[in-house]
Amino acid sequence: MEITDIQEEGYERVARCKDPESGLHAVISVHSTVLGPSLGGLRMWPYTSEDEALYDVLRLSRGMTYKSAVAQTGLGGGKAVIIGDPKTVKSESLYLAMGRFIESLDGKYITAEDVNTTIRDLEIVRRATSHVTGLSEADGGSGNPSPYTAYGVFLGIRAALGWQLGNDDLAGRTVALQGVGAVGSHLCQRLVEHGAEVTIADRNEVRVQGLVEKLGVKSVPESEILSQECDVLAPCALGAIINDQTIPRLRCKILAGATNNPLEERRHGVELDERNILYAPDYVINAGGIINVSTELMPGGFNKESSLMRIERIPQALKELWTIAKEENIAPNVASNRLAEKILADAIPS
Ligand code: NAD
Repeated sequence: MEITDIQEEGYERVARCKDPESGLHAVISVHSTVLGPSLGGLRMWPYTSEDEALYDVLRLSRGMTYKSAVAQTGLGGGKAVIIGDPKTVKSESLYLAMGRFIESLDGKYITAEDVNTTIRDLEIVRRATSHVTGLSEADGGSGNPSPYTAYGVFLGIRAALGWQLGNDDLAGRTVALQGVGAVGSHLCQRLVEHGAEVTIADRNEVRVQGLVEKLGVKSVPESEILSQECDVLAPCALGAIINDQTIPRLRCKILAGATNNPLEERRHGVELDERNILYAPDYVINAGGIINVSTELMPGGFNKESSLMRIERIPQALKELWTIAKEENIAPNVASNRLAEKILADAIPS
């Protein structure tokens, strides 16, 4: 196994690992441990080059620093990527090698689930390193983070209604929900239980039909969900959906969902603001999952009540940054980055 460092300005440590025996080619990026050990998921993706993988892991690890800073998890930001097609490269020896690679960072990076990595994969990684979170509750872990993410988004939507429309009651409010997968389906259920009128869209017809029958929600084709006239547009699918093409079609008052990086570019957040659409920044409103996982690392280990209590701070974090945005006359996405950077700067001893 060959581990080599990659110099990246602004990052504490970036390392690549090549292990010919298992076929592992992976990169770990530790963006910051100023607030604690860095935590972020392990992604497997068929990147076409190491540069492409590096771009992704740098961007994602930095995002984790900001997310954990605002969510006050006591953690820093990191991420790991394995270069390869999950259909062909997954093997026990590959995940054991990944575990040894993680172990070599001496706890500066703690891993978790991410795209194309399952709890079963992590169980193998765990045999080679203790720096693994998000295992099943039966194994002393915090389990599936999605219901916790959905709970945080639900609370964030209520906070946004209160801020934008003066009343956080969901009864009779209209919500357009894009994507009813792991997070979206839980969110849908909560919204309906609180009296919201929910319209859903998903490219998976079976999921749509299941919720239409179970909850009596309306559904529209995938191409129509973003232009629904509604109080809240809640994206819970893929990123970059708010862009030059879609913004003119939006007919919502609030944009608040679980999707990571819904804004194609930073300027699209500014444009939402100019159109008086209140944006709940992604990494603040969708922090329920990371908050839940971080609870595992607290003294005494995972505790559901304590996790829920910490997720219930998300509305307050959102209100703080909307206040900053208002006072400084900046868009909420700009305000959330400033807030995270201030938290980090304050934590660095002078
Ligand atoms: P998921 O894969 O379980 O669900 C996504 C759903 O979106 C799927 O049902 C898919 O068919 C659907 N979809 C994809 N493209 C679509 C489109 N164009 N229109 C309509 N539907 C579409 O994923 P998830 O875990 O529910 O995560 C959803 C989003 O939330 C992702 O952006 C993820 O990064 C983010 N997120 C998830 C968590 C978590 O705890 N799972 C935490 C933080 C952020």
